[in-house]
Amino acid sequence: MERKISKQPIGIYIHVPFCVRKCYYCDFLSAPVDERTKEQYVQAVKEEIYSYQENLKAYQIQTIYFGGGTPSLLTAAQLQEILFCILEVGEIQDPSSLEITVEVNPKTMDCKKWKVYREMGVNRISMGLQSSHDEELKLLGRVHSYDDFCRCFEEARSSGFQNISIDVMSALPNQTLEQYTETLERVCALQPEHISSYSLIIEEGTAFWEQYGPGKSLEQQLPGESLEREMYKKTKTILEEYGYRRYEISNYAKKNFESRHNTSYWIGTSYLGIGLGAASYFDKSRYENTRDLATYITHAANSEKRVVHKEVLTREDQMSEFMFLGLRCMKGISRKTFAQKFGHEVEEVYKNEIASLLEKKLLYCTEAGYALTDYGIDVSNYVFMHFV
Ligand code: SF4
Repeated sequence: MERKISKQPIGIYIHVPFCVRKCYYCDFLSAPVDERTKEQYVQAVKEEIYSYQENLKAYQIQTIYFGGGTPSLLTAAQLQEILFCILEVGEIQDPSSLEITVEVNPKTMDCKKWKVYREMGVNRISMGLQSSHDEELKLLGRVHSYDDFCRCFEEARSSGFQNISIDVMSALPNQTLEQYTETLERVCALQPEHISSYSLIIEEGTAFWEQYGPGKSLEQQLPGESLEREMYKKTKTILEEYGYRRYEISNYAKKNFESRHNTSYWIGTSYLGIGLGAASYFDKSRYENTRDLATYITHAANSEKRVVHKEVLTREDQMSEFMFLGLRCMKGISRKTFAQKFGHEVEEVYKNEIASLLEKKLLYCTEAGYALTDYGIDVSNYVFMHFV
């Protein structure tokens, strides 16, 4: 009798590195390009997917995530081509349980596109709003207004999307607590299923760095640390009032609407990153694709030339990742899972770290293991450093 080998779960991430124009704060790998380059890129992505035909035999795809950049800048037909290619190459156990997310920019959608997205099986939408104030959107260099966003949200709903996530940002230059609160309340009033809130970080190499970076002329316009903390705390208070539960440091969801794809990063599920600069984690190794568009387009199917970084994770690396990624989730890490994965009790491996963090009240004991306290969330990077 043939023995059935159970396949491991995997998530697929497709990076679409194109945007209408560059937002002033953005350091993601994305840029405006012409239609011809977009088409060449789509074909290259398909070639990369086909090159994984053998590797994917050991896996079962659970989630597919189109991120960027602005994936909705591709035509619906291009997105569909990529999706069909994944479905052709990879195995899916139950199509009805497959989570397929597309990140969209409100300025790039229309009714026809929504319809095709639905038909091709996209069942989760992630919309970048950032602020409900047009002057803040303008300051950030976003290409859409708040009205554009509201229209886009309504179109998504009327096209039948029942799982929508909205991104907002706090700690913007000159932003008051009232303005940020207003954005949160307007977003909650729309009742999306998921909300992500991130603090603005001034990254080197961005237009904002030149204005708001350390020692630069407008640095004083950034909210101070205490206002930033207040905004952070307000996020939790308001979102909980509206029925959202924080399940990760920056992510909130209605019951059963947590992002399965993003959660898989934090719990150590394998993922395959396809596209320019995309990162993958499978077979206990990390891989990173080239960030050079011309090289990617020419050599997408050739891992020798496409992959610029490969790292085999040691057992210590894997344990460390289990801890600092797992602790990002509010339910924390499980002692039992740690022991099953690594053959040791977590307290044996991280005896001093756990004792010290418990004593400082940065961690607490849960029924299953350990999780961050509210104070631990505030200083999460300090906590994570203990496991790196
Ligand atoms: S839309 Fe997103 S990825 Fe594109 S430039 Fe703006 S922040 Fe960056």
